[in-house]
Amino acid sequence: MLVNDNEAAQSSAQAYNQLLLNAERQRVLDADPAMLNRVQSIAQPLIGQAIALRPETRNWQWEVHVLKSDEVNAWCMAGGKIAVYTGLIQKIRPTDDELAQVLGHEIAHALLSHQAEKMSRVQVQKLGLGLGVLAGAVAGYDLGGVAGLADTVATVSLQLPNSRKAESEADSVGIELAAKAGYNPYAAISLWEKMIKVGGSGGPDWLSTHPNPEQRLQSMRAKAQQLMPVYQTNRRAP
Ligand SMILES: [Zn+2]
Repeated sequence: MLVNDNEAAQSSAQAYNQLLLNAERQRVLDADPAMLNRVQSIAQPLIGQAIALRPETRNWQWEVHVLKSDEVNAWCMAGGKIAVYTGLIQKIRPTDDELAQVLGHEIAHALLSHQAEKMSRVQVQKLGLGLGVLAGAVAGYDLGGVAGLADTVATVSLQLPNSRKAESEADSVGIELAAKAGYNPYAAISLWEKMIKVGGSGGPDWLSTHPNPEQRLQSMRAKAQQLMPVYQTNRRAP
């Protein structure tokens, strides 16, 4: 890989800080304190499990924020920089268990260095194309529209879809993190069924890389069944 985890975390931190600044100026950052509180309290035990699974991420400056946007989207940058868009909460109306699955899946991408992988791809392409051209090529997912974000390698790579293999890995690790944190693994299935229904307005993470949603749901069902005992041990009080 051209971009290692530390470099990925560093450039992500810069991009994230810039995004937060712009979002604050546009009054789209954490506009609803109750929603922010909900998202952060669901994320906290998942972050704990992420650190248990990959102890070096203890040193990450984990952060969770909510951005006001109609897009159905959420992501976790390298280094544990998380954002959930209000569109996801309002259009999907996830239960706590389902929201935990969204967060678990996105955290898994970061744990598995998928962002660093994509940054390496962007870096390579940048040499020949110029970042502006590349940004145009992946436009349609206008992260810039959310908070006036510059076309950094970190943000452009965030807009590139993950490979199918990366998605399967993130599904699997995400459900595992959630079960260990006490969230129902079957919520992964109900969540993705809702995502499929919302369809076209889904964020970049849920489009294009899943030509066979039925197969994906089947793998998630198998994983959920396998993790039921873990969930029952760690299950959260109602
Ligand atoms: Zn994904």
